[in-house]
Amino acid sequence: MPPERSYDVVIIGGGGHGLALAYYLAKHHGISDVGVFERSYIGSGGTGRNTTVLRANYKAPETVPFFKASLELYNRLGAELDFNLLLSPRGLLWLAHSEPSLRHQRERAFVNQAMGVDTVFITPDEIARLCPVLDITGGGKYPVLGAAYHAPGAVIRHDAVVWGYASAAQRQGVHIHQGVGVTGIEVTHGRCTGVHTSAGFVSAGTVVTAAGGYVSLVARMAGVRLPITTYPLQAFVTEAYKPVLDRIVASADLLVYISQSARGELLVGAEIEEYAAYSTRSTFDFLARASAHAIDLLPFMAKLRILRQWTGVCDMTPDYSPILGTTEVGGFYVDGGWGTWGFKAIPIAGTSMADLVATGRTPPLIAPFGLERFYEDRTVPERASAGTH
Ligand SMILES: Cc1cc2nc3c(=O)[nH]c(=O)nc-3n(C[C@H](O)[C@H](O)[C@H](O)COP(=O)(O)OP(=O)(O)OC[C@H]3O[C@@H](n4cnc5c(N)ncnc54)[C@H](O)[C@@H]3O)c2cc1C
Repeated sequence: MPPERSYDVVIIGGGGHGLALAYYLAKHHGISDVGVFERSYIGSGGTGRNTTVLRANYKAPETVPFFKASLELYNRLGAELDFNLLLSPRGLLWLAHSEPSLRHQRERAFVNQAMGVDTVFITPDEIARLCPVLDITGGGKYPVLGAAYHAPGAVIRHDAVVWGYASAAQRQGVHIHQGVGVTGIEVTHGRCTGVHTSAGFVSAGTVVTAAGGYVSLVARMAGVRLPITTYPLQAFVTEAYKPVLDRIVASADLLVYISQSARGELLVGAEIEEYAAYSTRSTFDFLARASAHAIDLLPFMAKLRILRQWTGVCDMTPDYSPILGTTEVGGFYVDGGWGTWGFKAIPIAGTSMADLVATGRTPPLIAPFGLERFYEDRTVPERASAGTH
């Protein structure tokens, strides 16, 4: 179906954030004259490449309630969308192998408890009971000294989240255009009036960019500069193995985290690469580093073959918090800066941005994350955003 010549709302990017926003605009506000423009296929960006960890064990007073609300929405999302999302609560162990890490994990537990999030600090003996396959000596090199245990931590099927939102949005009348890229944004007298696409011009009073790793390039089309740098992030899975790891294990010292998928694959994630790039090329260097540390924690993995390795690009902000809200261009909104942590935020960002677009009022939960914070010197530093910090 070719795009209409005009929509009330145009959303750029058919990842989780763009699709969720489209769904909630229609569902909560009756705004269904919405066109989602995805230059490739839906879920082809970070949403289809991520390691699917859901958690709320953040550290800043602004981020903890935001991610807690997202986790609560995820817990009922399958029923709401009428789609099996294969949600699997696991419990997340955040291991400390050094004194500074111990302090961080204790602090994480205290902050979480103060804000109603279930995270407790536990000892090596308790860790061993919760996760018997874990080598508590860290391969003899990185002994585990303690951990913050976040019981609500979970994994979910990422492509199911994409398809669930997309089909529910379409049932509400939203148009999703795959293979149609946005190439320019028209701004007249400081207001956004539409987008140029590979299928022609489409007028719209409201345009939202949810373009993931490319969000700063898209915002630049409207003349809006975002303080975002894009970095590659890699992951890999092994061949299938019998089910042995029923927790998610993360280590800030070893910069690695591991879970086992429903198919039995061991899924390993890490930190962003040190160089800024839009490249989705995978590297042997990453594989060597991440697999060595995975084996330090889970020695049985030494026997497994690597099945697949891939890379996504992450839109990193200087303070490791997202950018959500209005811009200096009227009718042009940003949902980005999701870095390595945005998959878990999809439901709450979608519903909050839909409220903002529909009513013009910024919901309190996302008020701290406006672009203006960088000009007003009130950033939201949140190193706990990264899957390994
Ligand atoms: C390896 C890896 C592991 C990760 N692990 C986790 C995790 O465990 N938990 C977590 O919470 N987060 C994780 N993340 C981060 C998470 O994947 C992202 O933050 C999140 O998916 C961003 O979603 P999005 O919808 O904003 O962007 P995307 O899913 O990237 O969607 C943006 C879409 O915009 C499209 N697009 C770009 N430019 C244009 C244009 N000009 N016109 C039209 N379309 C355009 C792209 O094709 C893309 O499909 C991980 C990321 C990676 C790469």
